[in-house]
Amino acid sequence: MRYNKNTLIQEFKVKAKPFQFAAIDEAIRTAQFVQNKALRYWMDNALVNKFDLNKLCAVLAKEFSFAGELNSMARQASAERAWSAISRFYDNCKKRIKPVGYPKFKKFARSVEYKTSGWKLTGTKRIVFTDKKGIGQLKLVGTHDLGYYPVELIKRVRLIRRADGYYCQFCIQVNRREPLEATGRTVGLDVGLESFYTDSNGRKENNPRFYRKSQAKRRTLQRRLARTKKGSNNRKKAINTLARLDLKTSRQRKDHVVKLARCVVQSNDLVAYEDLRIKNMVRNHNLAKSITDAGWYQFRQWLERYGQVFGRVTVAVNPAYTSQECFSCGQIVKKSLSTRTHACACGTQLDRDENAALNILRAGLVAVGHTGTSLHDRGNASGEMTATYLGFSSGGQVTSQKEESPLP
Ligand SMILES: [Zn+2]
Repeated sequence: MRYNKNTLIQEFKVKAKPFQFAAIDEAIRTAQFVQNKALRYWMDNALVNKFDLNKLCAVLAKEFSFAGELNSMARQASAERAWSAISRFYDNCKKRIKPVGYPKFKKFARSVEYKTSGWKLTGTKRIVFTDKKGIGQLKLVGTHDLGYYPVELIKRVRLIRRADGYYCQFCIQVNRREPLEATGRTVGLDVGLESFYTDSNGRKENNPRFYRKSQAKRRTLQRRLARTKKGSNNRKKAINTLARLDLKTSRQRKDHVVKLARCVVQSNDLVAYEDLRIKNMVRNHNLAKSITDAGWYQFRQWLERYGQVFGRVTVAVNPAYTSQECFSCGQIVKKSLSTRTHACACGTQLDRDENAALNILRAGLVAVGHTGTSLHDRGNASGEMTATYLGFSSGGQVTSQKEESPLP
């Protein structure tokens, strides 16, 4: 399911016995099985829609006993994951977004999603799973209080396996609208490698040091992993150590972008930034997988999400020429990546990224002034229209955090 402004995620660590963890693993495997079967069905048959996939779930339950053991709504949630990959693919084709992302079979699923049945809260920190997977009652460790919200508002419950253990996520439907008073300020952001971003006031936000630190540590661990024998216990350990480091880095990164995004959105009425998907294609193929890249992508998702919560405008603009065009006179001033200053014949001298941020802000203001017209045709896209696919069953291609909840 997709998040919207009214979705709140609460996460707990799971405390349980080994046989229960095994049962969770088994439920995750079944969820993956259903998801893959649904995808296969779509590939093999013409004109398959969402409802056909739902019907397929019932068939699978009869045909495979282990599928029948998983709660029926959890089976449907798995089929819906397949469907969301399929509809994203259709969407990309329609909008000519590349790569189109042909749906893939899931190999290493890490989670299973229940909806409103198949589980019951048995206290503020306890949940029991009532389907035939045998998970039983789990103790939940965390600071949230599940008793705070009426249980009807819990729309999804999700069990997730990570490198450092098992987690239980609750997806709660609440009214998360906290409109703030207008600040009278607007801002444009130019994200980059040297600084995390430069804003239209010339302020630079530094890249957090943990990026580089963890990369160095990662290389060491990878070398260690390369020296281990295939199938050995040492190898298993090394893989886990690496996975834990990645987990830690991704948590730090998330923490960083969440705080930053909230701060930017709270202190401005409008935030403009570049449509990074396009920017990546235009500017830096080779960086597509870099860790900072994933940070930008997440940062943007959070900007848009907080924009909705706090009633602020967020706009993604076309990145073409933002760094080349002179903010003052509109002349194109060609410069290589290493040229750090924008110096124009009109006399304007600005930091390169500040000039870009100013252009981005202007494009954002123009886009908003034209809301309702065909922004896409002009190559611009408003934040509302490109609304993020922050979702349980979605995944951006640059983010490695598909399974992370986008709420603090
Ligand atoms: Zn100029």
